[in-house]
Amino acid sequence: MRSPIGSSRRTGAGKRKPEGTSRAGRILPATKGDTRVILSPAKQTIGRASIRTGAGRTGMGNPAAQQDPVTIGDDRTIDQAVEAAHIPSLVLALIHLTGDESLLDRVPRPVYDFFGDGQGAIPAAVQAAVRAEAASALKAWRDGRPPAPLPGPAVIRRMMDFIAGADIPERYVPFLLEELAIGGGAPRAAAPAIAVPAAVKAAFPVAVIGAGMSGILAAIELQQAGIPYVIIEKNGDFGGTWHENSYPGCRVDTQNHLYSYSFENNHDWPQFYSDRSVLHAYFRRTAAKYDLGRFTRFRTTVETADYDEGRGRWRLGLRPPDGGAEVIEAAAVISAVGQLNQPRYPEIAGRETFRGPAFHSARWDHSVDLAGKRVAVIGSGASAFQFVPEIAPAAGHLTLFQRSAPWLGPTPDYHENVPAGMQWLLEHMPCYQSWYRFFLFWLMTDGILDAVRIDPEWQGGPQSVSALNEDLRQALSGYIAMQVEDETLRAKVTPAYPPGGKRMLRDNGTWLGALKRGNVTVEDGRIARITPAGIELADGRHVEADVIVYGTGFHASDFLRTLKVRGRGGLDLHQAWAGDARAYLGITMPGFPNFFTVYGPNTNIVVNGSIIFFSECAVRYILGAVKLMLEGGWRAVEVKPAVHDAFNDRVDAANRLMAWGAPQVSSWYKNATGRVGQNWPFALVDYWNATRTPDPEDYILTR
Ligand code: NAP
Repeated sequence: MRSPIGSSRRTGAGKRKPEGTSRAGRILPATKGDTRVILSPAKQTIGRASIRTGAGRTGMGNPAAQQDPVTIGDDRTIDQAVEAAHIPSLVLALIHLTGDESLLDRVPRPVYDFFGDGQGAIPAAVQAAVRAEAASALKAWRDGRPPAPLPGPAVIRRMMDFIAGADIPERYVPFLLEELAIGGGAPRAAAPAIAVPAAVKAAFPVAVIGAGMSGILAAIELQQAGIPYVIIEKNGDFGGTWHENSYPGCRVDTQNHLYSYSFENNHDWPQFYSDRSVLHAYFRRTAAKYDLGRFTRFRTTVETADYDEGRGRWRLGLRPPDGGAEVIEAAAVISAVGQLNQPRYPEIAGRETFRGPAFHSARWDHSVDLAGKRVAVIGSGASAFQFVPEIAPAAGHLTLFQRSAPWLGPTPDYHENVPAGMQWLLEHMPCYQSWYRFFLFWLMTDGILDAVRIDPEWQGGPQSVSALNEDLRQALSGYIAMQVEDETLRAKVTPAYPPGGKRMLRDNGTWLGALKRGNVTVEDGRIARITPAGIELADGRHVEADVIVYGTGFHASDFLRTLKVRGRGGLDLHQAWAGDARAYLGITMPGFPNFFTVYGPNTNIVVNGSIIFFSECAVRYILGAVKLMLEGGWRAVEVKPAVHDAFNDRVDAANRLMAWGAPQVSSWYKNATGRVGQNWPFALVDYWNATRTPDPEDYILTR
């Protein structure tokens, strides 16, 4: 199979805008008006339900048959639940209950806004009628009426088009059907059946580095495939980023009902974007469910990985908790170390001279009491955005040293609890959760890719990259302006780079609310140096501080920073990369047989998708490579340099045409050479297609 990536076809053309929909008019949530309206969760979150019946490793089965009518709920519970429903999901779940396909004609398709909830265009009276029908069908089902038989493929297709609010392009259909997984099965069941005797598998041990989201996933899939593995984890627990980041306000910024493994859905997320402790608990629980702890070595660091070409084995040099040294061998290595876990402190003169406490957001020092203190925060990226509003109220004074302001994506339910009625629907109503997750997945499938693609002919100036991007910029600037009356502050907090140049942050008004506080100052002047008593600006002013918090990000483009990897012929990975990490599909590098990376170079996403989706695709591909080797009797696979190089050329060309690749944008997406080494510039469906199974033609296979 040849990847379509980089063909002359335009990617990301998934969502067709309904006719008559003006671009600018569809950018902000449908509710217009003053800031209070825009920010009112009650008005904006009607029906942001979160549903998926227990589709999992064991398949969906018939959820109705497995439920006890008494525990399902009384009439009042059902009536309240449908009030909280996401109407398009409710319509489709209702079809599963009753078999009444006429709903697809009776209810108008939802209309999607950039940041809307997808219920636009369904009149209130129709919504009420759907709720009433659903309540009565749910009561009948509770009382023993069986659900209708599963609709056939043609109806499922119409249902997908309905909830998508568009005729889904044909090339998206298999990809979306897999995600939907109606009728059973695990959506991205990565573990392919590997048809070799158990002894052959037993002789192919795999080392997984890292026990975060991707490492847990890789281990589960190896286990399902019957491949022996060990996880080596530097921390004392599972969870990766959710374990390490404990700063106040830390929470997920992808909808939680999507930000979960496709095979481990969770219907009881307490919030639409839950906090890190909930996420951490989810990953720990998943690891426990699959009993991964038995095969995990905590507090152990992998320092070196050397390939023994003669034996086709990787030798990993470990530093165990006792500080000694140990070497283990593996037939393959999966690096799942993440991109965002090596804190980057700014190179500002005098940093070591500061006499108060100073710490990085990812190494939060909870022993430091910030109450009444003069707190200096450096950085205004995703982390600072979350912790500044949390710490500002208690601080004596907080000064935010901002180099560039973030764009804010209106997200009224960002801090909202999932209402009890929604929880009920998620748990009980057959197929509701599946369709709700599908709805979220569809919203994120292409996200706002179209709006962040560079139009080479664009003459509108450096603050935008196309007409659509300019529409978005104006709408988002308006969203900021609505919240900030003070012109000086407004100028400071309105970004000067195109939307999409950096990750847009989910906002419900909390950020600017914090910056408007009387005890908060935004400094956007250049920092000259850090002194023992505070921070000196280039214009000579000195800001005194008791505590400095660095929200300055991570050594993201320095992939595998702490690991020394030597491949075939002793080739050193960091020397080969020379500060410009590249991989084929973000997964594999020439010269490094059987060494795979998950969330590797060019697999980060900015305006679409969930990173869990990417990891699931990558792990499936890696398991496919293991299958290829074991069934073919090969000892090693190594990507051909020409394949790797051509892929990277296509990625680079596409990244140059995205807002984050624009010359006027600087961010952690660009490495020291100026190349965008982080981001995936294509659509999700392209990564899905490219990673479904490895093409043997792409590889040098060694016996
Ligand atoms: P970041 O996005 O890289 O932000 C770092 C901030 O520090 C930026 O505002 C940057 O300014 C500033 N900065 C860096 N060096 C500086 C210097 N020498 N002087 C002054 N300012 C400096 O880091 P982050 O906020 O930790 O987030 C990193 C990534 O982690 C995010 O992009 C996101 O992908 C992920 N994240 C996700 C979540 C979530 O899902 N909830 C939360 C946190 C982080 P410039 O913008 O001008 O470079």
